[in-house]
Amino acid sequence: MTVIVEAATQLREQLRGAVIAPTDAEYEQARQLYNGMIDKRPRLIARCLDQADVRAAVTFGREQGMLVAIRGGGHNGPGLGSCDDGLVIDLSLLKSVRVDPARRTVRVDAGCTSGDVDHATHAFGLAVPFGIVSTTGVAGLTLGGGTGYLTRKYGLTIDNLLEADVVLADGRLVTASATEHPDLFWALRGGGGNFGVVTSFLFQAHPVDTVYAGPIFWEATHARAVMQAYRDFLPTAPEELGIFVGLKTVPPLDPFPREHWGQRACAIIGSYDGPAQDGARVMGQLLEAVPPPIFNWMGEMPFPAMQALFDPFFPKGLQWYWKGDFVRSLPDDAIDTHIAQAAKAPSALSLMHLYPIDGAVHRVPKDATAWNTRDARFSMVIAGIDPDPDQATALKTWGRSYWTAIHPFNLEGAYVNFMMDDEAQGRLQATYGENYPRLAAVKAAYDPHNLFRVNQNIVPTPA
Ligand SMILES: Cc1cc2nc3c(=O)[nH]c(=O)nc-3n(C[C@H](O)[C@H](O)[C@H](O)COP(=O)(O)OP(=O)(O)OC[C@H]3O[C@@H](n4cnc5c(N)ncnc54)[C@H](O)[C@@H]3O)c2cc1C
Repeated sequence: MTVIVEAATQLREQLRGAVIAPTDAEYEQARQLYNGMIDKRPRLIARCLDQADVRAAVTFGREQGMLVAIRGGGHNGPGLGSCDDGLVIDLSLLKSVRVDPARRTVRVDAGCTSGDVDHATHAFGLAVPFGIVSTTGVAGLTLGGGTGYLTRKYGLTIDNLLEADVVLADGRLVTASATEHPDLFWALRGGGGNFGVVTSFLFQAHPVDTVYAGPIFWEATHARAVMQAYRDFLPTAPEELGIFVGLKTVPPLDPFPREHWGQRACAIIGSYDGPAQDGARVMGQLLEAVPPPIFNWMGEMPFPAMQALFDPFFPKGLQWYWKGDFVRSLPDDAIDTHIAQAAKAPSALSLMHLYPIDGAVHRVPKDATAWNTRDARFSMVIAGIDPDPDQATALKTWGRSYWTAIHPFNLEGAYVNFMMDDEAQGRLQATYGENYPRLAAVKAAYDPHNLFRVNQNIVPTPA
């Protein structure tokens, strides 16, 4: 304990932000992560307020030989924004967002959520492609790749990254872009938090204002027809339509129709970036191929409202167990397997989603960024979710057996942001494919001693 107090004092002298130790009153609150299933107890939490704080924290962690975790939004499934008995470099107070409307760019500090950015860019009729829940951290989402409603039209989040400021393992601050440290810039786009602490990102934004968007739910008996129709419709659908299919449960609360509360369902969630009448017409082509839904709540709304639509269902502290895969095709046998496995979901919140990987994502060469699986058609996620910690084992058991049943239809790799920390050996290599050796070489160049290893870790291997 004396050692911790001494270390905390030493670090406090160097930082403008707070350094929180287990003896501090705010420790319990400060160590909490989004996923209630994860219960990590860091030795110190450094709440950085600027780049100087980040540099001091990195140097301190390295010199003290501490395990170092980097925390952006704290949303990561296995809690890779924290660690046991180490130093957490907590960026959550770095919240500035600066929009340049003339250039249509936005500079985003590393503690921002996607909701923070949507709020700032929407004022200028602009948006950056992020994910579908607005409380998710921009940092972890971006460094893993980033998929969302705007992805079919504008690509992954990383495809819109112009530069990043990074504090390296040796404490240097560098800017990575197409022209400065291009190898680092290449690796940051999909390689996760392996290469340093990103303190800010510069993104290309796009004109996005109101969208025609929302959820449509069908009874589970129609799931086969809906999933088949979605699969066949997607390649013909305009890229303005970001749309995914899911197997879920009708939430047992108003305004959902009472007679369906708690029943398993198939859902399509879409967001059309364009005039509402065009969105309704495009969706009409899909809807005419399927039975009538329980409800269709697509309508015109500001884009940030769609981005935040699911936030109330997923507050901080729920239990989450994640499994993912990339998917190249969705044959009828796979659809039947999905339906059979989803029917066994242990809780109302547990879900399976298939997000499209097509359009603009396919137009970027596989070796242009670290994110490799650009020839997939979908990114699949299975998430066991429930508020009750006693359900944790049931969520894991269901997630694993669902994944075991469906994986033979899928590709070997998965989206790194949908992985827990219990993946089989070789999963990361499969995910990065032919890009893996280059990633390992960039890691060796920028973090040769693997200081940043609380992540989906790429082992430093000189070229
Ligand atoms: C409810 C929910 C919905 C989601 N929806 C989507 C979605 O639609 N699309 C999508 O692509 N993903 C989605 N995700 C997954 C999400 O991308 C990951 O959970 C991601 O890790 C979250 O980033 P974070 O900054 O909040 O996480 P953190 O837990 O803070 O960090 C995650 C990882 O990133 C590293 N990291 C964080 N900040 C930095 C930094 N500044 N510099 C270097 N490394 C850093 C950490 O070391 C850690 O390894 C969702 C997650 C949740 C919980």
